[in-house]
This record gives sequence, C-alpha cells and structure tokens, in this order.
Amino acid sequence: LTLKTVLEVRDLTVSYGKVEALSNANIKVGEGQIVTVIGPNGAGKTTMLSAIMGLLESRGKVDFDGTIEGVPVVERMVARGMNLVPEKRELFGEMTVEDNLVLGAFQRHRAGHRDHAQTMEEVYQLFPRLRERRSQLAGTLSGGERQMLAVGRALMAKPKLLMLDEPSLGLAPLIVREIFRIISELRRRGVSILLVEQNARAALQVADYAYVLETGEIAMEGPARQLADDPRVIEAYLGLG
Ligand code: ATP
Repeated sequence: LTLKTVLEVRDLTVSYGKVEALSNANIKVGEGQIVTVIGPNGAGKTTMLSAIMGLLESRGKVDFDGTIEGVPVVERMVARGMNLVPEKRELFGEMTVEDNLVLGAFQRHRAGHRDHAQTMEEVYQLFPRLRERRSQLAGTLSGGERQMLAVGRALMAKPKLLMLDEPSLGLAPLIVREIFRIISELRRRGVSILLVEQNARAALQVADYAYVLETGEIAMEGPARQLADDPRVIEAYLGLG
C-alpha cells in the first residue's frame, strides 16, 4: 500500500542565534494520516511547526503536496492548503465567534472563492457549541470553546494539511477527549493532520505514525501503536497514568 505523501520535511534546521533549536529533522505525513510529534517542554515542537509553515527562518526542504519550497513563506503555504492552529490560539477576543470564523476564510475569499457560508455550516456541524455561541465575543469563551474556535477558524481555509500545536494544552479531560474525537473526524473527512502534543498518551492513541522530538532532534519514530508499546516511550512519556 503506497500512501501519497502530503508533507515531507527534509533536514529542517532552525537556529535562534547560536542555539540550534531544531537539527536536521525529517518527517513525513501521508494523505489522510494523523502524524504526531511528541516530546517534552522545549524540545522544539513549536519551532518545527513554525518553520514548516514559513513563520520562521529555517534551512532544509519542505515538500508540500508535490511542490518543494526552498524557504517556506507563510502566505504561500496557506494559499496552497496548509494551516496552523497555534498553541496560543490567537483569536480576536473583541470580535464574535462568527466573525473570527469569517476571518479564517479571508485568503480563500481573496483568491476568489465564495463558499465560506457552506464551510461555516460544516464547521458548525462539527462544533455545535460554536453555533450556539456564534454571537458571543471570542474573548469570553471558555478554554475548550476557544480551542474549538481556533480549529474551526483554521478549517475555514479548507486546509489539506492541518497542523495543531498542543490542542489539549490546559483543557479538562472531558474537553481533551472531545478535541481528539474531532481530530479523528477530520481525518475521516480527508484532512491530513500533523499534531504536536505533550499529551503523549492521547496523541499516540489517535495517530497513525509518531515521532519523538528531544532537544531538537528526532530521537525515535514509528507507527503510533508500536511507539505506545515501546518501553523507552512508556518510561519517558507515558508513565503509569
Ligand atoms: P513547549 O512544549 O514548551 O512549547 P516546544 O517543544 O514547542 O516546547 P519550542 O517552543 O520550539 O519547544 O522551543 C525550543 C527551544 O528554542 C527552547 O529551548 C526555547 O527556549 C527556544 N526558543 C524558542 N523560541 C525562541 C526564540 N524566539 N528565541 C530564542 N530561543 C527560542
């Protein structure tokens, strides 16, 4: 079975001044896959996503959907179907839920697409809670609702590849379960996902393939189920729980 590759990152390296935060990282996401990158605080996970998206200067190659980017540039990556849900959510707190969603379709709209009403309907079907709260100011949402809105807004761009930076951060277990259910549902709808998580247990449960990032380097990789059974992963990331 050969899977079409949506994203292939080769020798991606990022330095902050003299410090190399990401060293020669190689990762691949197949079409319709959920691929996760787990690792401790400060391992370079956010750095990796930012570099792939073109938000940070990097060295290496990013091959997205068959086109090789020398240096990724964020606008181009978004236009080509990549989208990132940042760890800090970055919503417009003084705007309503619905207006935040509309803004997510900005680039698509500018490119001449006029399908945002239908996409919004799909987002509301995925997150009924957002529909209920569509007139509420984003700044007054709960943590879980904010995460839903951040994901919903990214979906308004109809991404081929959705990158999620620690979507479970700071959320109660019940909400975490809901977020992971939605991640699975997105894969079912044909969105490929690159998921960065500190919650290794939940990430390995939902993912097809996994990488372990430690101090800027890919230390291990393999099918998610296999990594979940690996004694080193269990000891370092799964504990007894
Ligand atoms: P966390 O889970 O805590 O968010 P992470 O795995 O996402 O961690 P990064 O945020 O990518 O890790 O950080 C990797 C390393 O690079 C850390 O040592 C961090 O302090 C450093 N770093 C991140 N951003 C910058 C920056 N703008 N300037 C200098 N160093 C940075």
